[in-house]
Amino acid sequence: MSTLRAIQADITTLALDCIVNAANESLLGGGGVDGAIHSAAGPQLLAQCRTLRGCATGEAKITGGFRLPARYVIHTVGPVWHGGNAGEAELLAACYRNSLALAATHHIQSIAFPAISTGVYGYPLAAATDIAVRSVRQVMGQPDMPQEIVFCCFSERDLAVYQAALLRQD
Ligand code: ADP
Repeated sequence: MSTLRAIQADITTLALDCIVNAANESLLGGGGVDGAIHSAAGPQLLAQCRTLRGCATGEAKITGGFRLPARYVIHTVGPVWHGGNAGEAELLAACYRNSLALAATHHIQSIAFPAISTGVYGYPLAAATDIAVRSVRQVMGQPDMPQEIVFCCFSERDLAVYQAALLRQD
């Protein structure tokens, strides 16, 4: 059975098999966690991303980690928050499900997720956190899923929201 927990850290420092990037559809880098991952991984990451021809919202693609301690990066594109009636919840859930399905096919044992869409993309944190926890719990028992699944929070406030969500059993 997989373990699921939340920590506060800079995701680029984590020595796990894989970290997840909250990318944009171009996969050519951006601000926030995307910028931090590209700058820590080095230019080879951008070179590999260029070969992928982008990624649709809710989907996920995998690259190497290059100079990161993590061996792989899974790039997923969260929805931009448009008020909640534009399919945002289903697209955000798909990011977590598709990232974990891709991790399973690569036999990834440990993986960390940032709080996808809750930065520049504007998704309200509490609602996004509930979706993150619920989507991961729905699939973590499936075959070949990573043994160790981590929610990597950048701020103490985010960590508190994740920890409260993890204590709920819904
Ligand atoms: P999005 O465009 O999907 O909203 P952002 O990168 O703007 O993505 O924000 C997503 C989350 O990633 C936010 O909670 C932000 O605080 C967090 N974040 C930013 N930099 C890092 C980092 N180095 N490690 C972990 N989380 C980070």
